[in-house]
Amino acid sequence: MTLEKDSIRLLQDALEKLDHGFDPLPDFQPQVDNEALRAVLDRVVEQLGDNLPYPHPLYAGQMMKPPHPVARLAYSLALWINPNNHALDGGRASSAMEKEAVAEIATMFGWPTHLGHLCSGGTIANLEALWVAGRLHPGKKTLASSQAHYTHARISEVLGNVFCEIESDAQGKMSIDALWQQLDQGDVGTVVVTLGTTGTGSLDPLPAIIDLKDQYHFRIHVDAAYGGYFTLVDTLDTETRIIFDAIQDADSVVVDPHKHGLQPYGCGCILFRDPAVSTIYQHESPYTYFTSDELHLGEIGLECSRPGASAVALWATQQLLPLQRGGDFSHDLEKSLAAAQTLYQHLYNDDRFLTVQKPELDIVVWGVRAQRASEISQHTRDLFNRAAKADLHLALLELPSRQLSAHWPGVDFDVDNVTCLRSCLIKPEHLDWCNTIWKILDEVSGPHPL
Ligand SMILES: *Cc1c(COP(=O)(O)O)cnc(C)c1O
Repeated sequence: MTLEKDSIRLLQDALEKLDHGFDPLPDFQPQVDNEALRAVLDRVVEQLGDNLPYPHPLYAGQMMKPPHPVARLAYSLALWINPNNHALDGGRASSAMEKEAVAEIATMFGWPTHLGHLCSGGTIANLEALWVAGRLHPGKKTLASSQAHYTHARISEVLGNVFCEIESDAQGKMSIDALWQQLDQGDVGTVVVTLGTTGTGSLDPLPAIIDLKDQYHFRIHVDAAYGGYFTLVDTLDTETRIIFDAIQDADSVVVDPHKHGLQPYGCGCILFRDPAVSTIYQHESPYTYFTSDELHLGEIGLECSRPGASAVALWATQQLLPLQRGGDFSHDLEKSLAAAQTLYQHLYNDDRFLTVQKPELDIVVWGVRAQRASEISQHTRDLFNRAAKADLHLALLELPSRQLSAHWPGVDFDVDNVTCLRSCLIKPEHLDWCNTIWKILDEVSGPHPL
């Protein structure tokens, strides 16, 4: 058994209660043909079988985390109403829940005031941040590290902003020297600082970048789509703690509740520290339906219609698991971090493998030892396939030889990029399973070299 099925019973009760709210209206009963639905659902189950086992702890590849049961239930319940958080007229209750949940995320980052909302994901959230940044610094460059999410370059293209890539160091962090050289050339409007790169979970040196702001007057946008929630964790390295605390001084931040925040896909969040950026969004259209003076979320977003259900699910999750340091939610993140550190130690102590840096968050990256980089890539791909056959699902990551050479001194780098294994231990259950994961890896890796 892998799927949690008990909690679905609560949905029926909750639906009955929700339905009572409509009692004053004349009776109206939508018709459904349950037999026809059953036949289609059977086919849906068949189709859905063609997936990797994402909810199981032996799926330890990409950043896939099942939504919390309370998020699933609250989302489903909201679908019977299907509110639209574009305007209060389409989703009064769910808009209020969104404002509350988003304010709690702002508080998590140490912001007493903010402007922000949910959106469909990290990409759209970053698009919005870079759109606002471009409006405030028209014609100026946007910088991000070579390990930043690939969408930043594309977003900049869409917006017509000039984009420049800044080199990353051996730890996968933006190189301050390279940044400083770009800043010195002038015309930089925005620096994108990634806190938790998607590949290796590295954090760019935000405090040092903030120190450069006084001299060069750029905006700082923090892309913490994957890493943001780790600010709640008490077991971070001192340096990592200092980096997260510096988010307070950034201009905007993105976090994805659909990555570490236990939400179904379709839930990203953008926050601006200065609420005055709202003036940039002003638009008028004859057909939107802003009928009150209260803030309609569609007045401060790029998207029009948005699922109120996402806000309902996030609100419910944060009611059950408040975004507090020392709480259950943060303890679960600590488990992911501990799982990554445990797996890393196993790999580090074993001469069949080549590790990269110690995980800062919950991603572990390593290769299979060989003389030449091209052989490392080949052996690594073989191991990826053998592990999958043994039901252990990992991910692959290409890293530049430039970044790896400091970690792997004896290797002959005959190619520019090396294929590595990558494991996101994003589920708290991964901590209990990391010895099993290691056992499978040990078995499928074959004997130690002589
Ligand atoms: C996942 C991710 C994104 C993109 O977010 P989506 O929700 O997939 O659109 C952007 N930046 C970082 C650092 C990410 O990890």
